[in-house]
Amino acid sequence: MRAFVFLDRDGTLVRDAGYPHRIADYARLPGVSEGLRQLQAAGYGLAIVTNQSGIGRGYFSESDFWTFQNHLVQDLGREGITIERTFFCPHHPDAGCGCRKPEPALLHRARAELGADLTKSWVIGDTFRDAALAERSRCRGAILVGRAEASGETPRVADLAEAARWILRAASPPDGPRSAVA
Ligand SMILES: [Mg+2]
Ligand SMILES: [Zn+2]
Repeated sequence: MRAFVFLDRDGTLVRDAGYPHRIADYARLPGVSEGLRQLQAAGYGLAIVTNQSGIGRGYFSESDFWTFQNHLVQDLGREGITIERTFFCPHHPDAGCGCRKPEPALLHRARAELGADLTKSWVIGDTFRDAALAERSRCRGAILVGRAEASGETPRVADLAEAARWILRAASPPDGPRSAVA
């Protein structure tokens, strides 16, 4: 069982101007590369967990989603960052599915398919749904990035790099000694 950081995508890793799905609109947010490299170096697995209701709403196709998603994963890969898996909910919010965040089904799949130890894992996102996902799936905690909305008791920081520092301060790394963290 391994510790993961589960990453929201839109508004957390890439700019969210509303259902991003075209390569032309692809813009990685500041601090993403630095933050993910630090988490990876500390031993965390990385996976993306994203609501993509634009598919269920008919705004774009699942194939459009994968084109954009693969672009992101490859872009990060060129910087030495491995996204182990993408979990996504394609459904309309009214569909009543069990996988739309904050429903915990996607993280239960991550536990089953990646061997993720949720009690040692974190969620980084930008909305209350991401914080609630961590709570409902009994993750160690959540950190929110950006300035989108009030976040209650969940810590909110400026960007991914700061979120990574926050996690690495709060928790002993999952593997290896604390001193291994730069
Ligand atoms: Mg988001
Ligand atoms: Zn769903």
